[in-house]
Amino acid sequence: MSETEYDVVVIGGGGAGLAAAVSAAERGASVILFESEGELGGSTQLSAGMFTAAATRVQKELGVDDTVDRFFQHYMDLNQWLLKPGLVRRFCELAGPTLEWLLDLGVDVPAQLSGNAHTPGLCRAGVEDVWRAHVPKDQGYGLVQVLDKARKAAGVEVVLHTRVEGLLVRDGRVGGVVVDGMELTAGAVVVASGGLAQSPELVARWFPDALRAGDSLFVVAAPGSRGDHLAFGEQVRASVSGGGWGLMLPTAEFVRSHHWQAGFPPASRVHVNRHGRRFMDEDASYAVSGGLIDAQGGPTWMVFDEAARQALPEGYADWTPARVEELVGTGAVVRADDLASLAERIGVPADNLAATVARWNDQLPQGSDTDFQRDQTLAAKGATAPLAAIAAPPFHATRVLPAELVCTHAGLEIDVNASVLDEQARPIPGLFAAGEAGGGVLGNRYVGGGNAVANALTMGRLAGQSAASTARQL
Ligand SMILES: Cc1cc2nc3c(=O)[nH]c(=O)nc-3n(C[C@H](O)[C@H](O)[C@H](O)COP(=O)(O)OP(=O)(O)OC[C@H]3O[C@@H](n4cnc5c(N)ncnc54)[C@H](O)[C@@H]3O)c2cc1C
Repeated sequence: MSETEYDVVVIGGGGAGLAAAVSAAERGASVILFESEGELGGSTQLSAGMFTAAATRVQKELGVDDTVDRFFQHYMDLNQWLLKPGLVRRFCELAGPTLEWLLDLGVDVPAQLSGNAHTPGLCRAGVEDVWRAHVPKDQGYGLVQVLDKARKAAGVEVVLHTRVEGLLVRDGRVGGVVVDGMELTAGAVVVASGGLAQSPELVARWFPDALRAGDSLFVVAAPGSRGDHLAFGEQVRASVSGGGWGLMLPTAEFVRSHHWQAGFPPASRVHVNRHGRRFMDEDASYAVSGGLIDAQGGPTWMVFDEAARQALPEGYADWTPARVEELVGTGAVVRADDLASLAERIGVPADNLAATVARWNDQLPQGSDTDFQRDQTLAAKGATAPLAAIAAPPFHATRVLPAELVCTHAGLEIDVNASVLDEQARPIPGLFAAGEAGGGVLGNRYVGGGNAVANALTMGRLAGQSAASTARQL
């Protein structure tokens, strides 16, 4: 056994890093974790904590019949088989056991159906045919608290305010890190430093589609998401996977914060394209909504009436009656006394818009939607009140577009052990990665509500186990 200061060094204290640190320590490794910011948690702490997994005890208690095979098939099909099936199968196999591990550590996902990301329980948040999104009590914050408690119990040292500068590479293997200009040796290193959403240069290079949002683009990922994993990877000529992909949530063009702060647009709204035609279920999942909007080949609008504006609840940054009124003054919300004038102002055919709104009014307030099946999405959310007709002038329109950058998928390519691969697809000795920093699990489509948190915690736990085994073999 060679002498190193630690068995395992973990870079980053979000979901992937904490899961890696705890699981490595569970296997007897001495572990130190560095976190660049003043507190643990990263994007994981900001998230709803929603976690997609199949064949879990929560599903079983609710009588939801689900299997790893079904999860895998859906995951690959939605991603058009652009991901490596072996790695995705591994993820699908381990997501359930990782959720069970979290439950045993103290995470609370009550066995009850949930209509949204804010109510603990089991939710249907993607386009899967089974309820698979697990919402923990206290959301992402709750996950981080439980993992941090386990981390303390396992004796894992944490150093805050310390941004790891580089990897220590010796004799063809990664044998530690450079922090504060000093070298720290370790048997293995786990890169769990999150994504790159907060670096405009790296977004331009690795996720240029995000820039199509123009001035409306805003980033909700944690401040530490600076893409440091890519610099670490360059040091050892690691392969990068997932370039060009990330998660952009559709939002109104004037919104600049996550819906928890910004609020929610009126339920009684219709989304139309440049032809004035409705083109989507207005509540469609993130798994498909961005793609539906992109496919319209021009501006897309949400249209709502005065009754909907007045019915908005107070207490949010953007979606309140007064704020929308204010936005009419700035031009960010277009207003007109009738639909024909509104159509003219937003540049869509007036006849089409009138027909679209008439059809919406014929169906949605009656609880049916034979074209886009929004009634089913609303039912899954537990919405019971019928939607009001869009009929009270004046009418309003605002652009809707994918503009909220949540996470990025360009990570260091990993294999089924979470080992980082080099450009020849060979594992780099001593180096592991997980979460947004690890590439290959998150694809071009977001699978179910909870894809990214499940990836971070599942692959983080695996990376910790693999790193501990590697360190033991030295
Ligand atoms: C508002 C919001 C809501 C979301 N909701 C969901 C959801 O409900 N379900 C879902 O699946 N996904 C959701 N996501 C996405 C998901 O939270 C993230 O993709 C996932 O948690 C990332 O985990 P991670 O461990 O890879 O990164 P993070 O949790 O961001 O952790 C990375 C950590 O590394 C630190 N770090 C970075 N560089 C260094 C360095 N050089 N040295 C030391 N430390 C460093 C960072 O400061 C950070 O703390 C949401 C994201 C946001 C922002």
